[in-house]
Amino acid sequence: MEIPSEMSTVVCSHCNVRAIPAPNIDLHYAHCSRNLEKCTICGDMVPRKHAEEHYMNTHAPVACSLCRETVEREVLAHHKGANCPQRIVTCEYCEFPLPAVDLSKHQEFCGNRTEFCDLATNTFDCVNE
Ligand SMILES: [Zn+2]
Ligand SMILES: [Zn+2]
Ligand SMILES: [Zn+2]
Ligand SMILES: [Zn+2]
Repeated sequence: MEIPSEMSTVVCSHCNVRAIPAPNIDLHYAHCSRNLEKCTICGDMVPRKHAEEHYMNTHAPVACSLCRETVEREVLAHHKGANCPQRIVTCEYCEFPLPAVDLSKHQEFCGNRTEFCDLATNTFDCVNE
């Protein structure tokens, strides 16, 4: 089949992204306006019947897998890396991994304890005391 090199195309006014061969635009538009809708958040064209699914999969707030708190999807990585009370951090004294929420209490205790240790060589003994 030969494709005419200068076939004119039209941009569909509904989905606004695709250059549709002019002879097909009516058909496309009818189909497009019936089946697609524009996501109000990301602007993607989403099949109407999957709009909710698209929202849930792409934009809905998600529960943090660590603390179960619901956070916006965009901040989840930051939340887990810096804000989540259940994220695992390491004690700056003994390098023991523990949830951030327990860190200050632990370090208060651990800091006082390891004051007396030579951290470079005796950390291990100090932890296991
Ligand atoms: Zn369209
Ligand atoms: Zn979207
Ligand atoms: Zn969290
Ligand atoms: Zn410690």
